[in-house]
Amino acid sequence: MNWLTNFVRPKLRALVARKEVPENLWRKCSSCGQMIFHRELEANFYVCPHCDYHLRLPAKERLALLFDEGKYQRIELPKTVADPLKFRDLRRYTERLKESQGRTGENEAIVVAHGMLGGSAAVIAAFDFEFMGGSMGVGVGSAFLAAAKLAVLQDAPLIAVSASGGARMQEGILSLMQLPRTVIGVEDVRAAGLPYLVVLTDPTSGGVTASFAMLGDVAIAEPGAIICFAGARVIEKTIKEKLPEGFQRAEYLLEHGMVDIVSHRRDLRALLIRLIGLLRNRKPVSSGNGEDRTALIPARP
Ligand SMILES: [Zn+2]
Repeated sequence: MNWLTNFVRPKLRALVARKEVPENLWRKCSSCGQMIFHRELEANFYVCPHCDYHLRLPAKERLALLFDEGKYQRIELPKTVADPLKFRDLRRYTERLKESQGRTGENEAIVVAHGMLGGSAAVIAAFDFEFMGGSMGVGVGSAFLAAAKLAVLQDAPLIAVSASGGARMQEGILSLMQLPRTVIGVEDVRAAGLPYLVVLTDPTSGGVTASFAMLGDVAIAEPGAIICFAGARVIEKTIKEKLPEGFQRAEYLLEHGMVDIVSHRRDLRALLIRLIGLLRNRKPVSSGNGEDRTALIPARP
């Protein structure tokens, strides 16, 4: 029996056992469940090649996707008090911060960068959902204000790419103060006569939806993105009613007037360039190839 138990059984087990897939090489699509090779995923800007599901995109990849030739300069984020309330739940807030910083290689849940977009200067503030759920505390609020200031300074449009669970609980009331603060940033950009565009990505919720994310001159959303203030489960429990199919998804919100455009990630860069062109040169312009650049604007009755 020894030969059977010691030799044959482990061999059989090894044959049958599920092999562990290295996480960094293959990603499972959260929509269709197919495995996608990392190179294919990167080449396809993190959109599933099988079902077109838009996976979450890290801030770095987002910036590389949008700026001309993928080139941009990041700005150093303003220094803020790391843990103003000395907050502790199951773990210390400072520990959670360190862990997120180690995992994402970012200092905060937002990255601010400037570069060229369609041949003219632009500033982009992009969220990283992997960093504490893209939550907005004092650091994120200050970074957004810095982005707005930079846009005004450079006479450049500001683009915010949101992906956030809302305000950062660990900073209590201070995180809620970032709602009016970021709105002031938007107003500064607007007062300077510069375009302010928002790209709502999955998921955008809570305090971020309730502040700068809903204030874009044009609200663009990625397909299938959940955009909400309170989650569907909370609403269902409160109103004790079943919510409609696709509730809070980008397409549903487009139909109900909460967003203006739902754009495939592949077309996002071209769309932003086009919109900025339209917003900066108010006169209808022809792009020279017979294409009508005003086609995006619905005709006035
Ligand atoms: Zn898929």
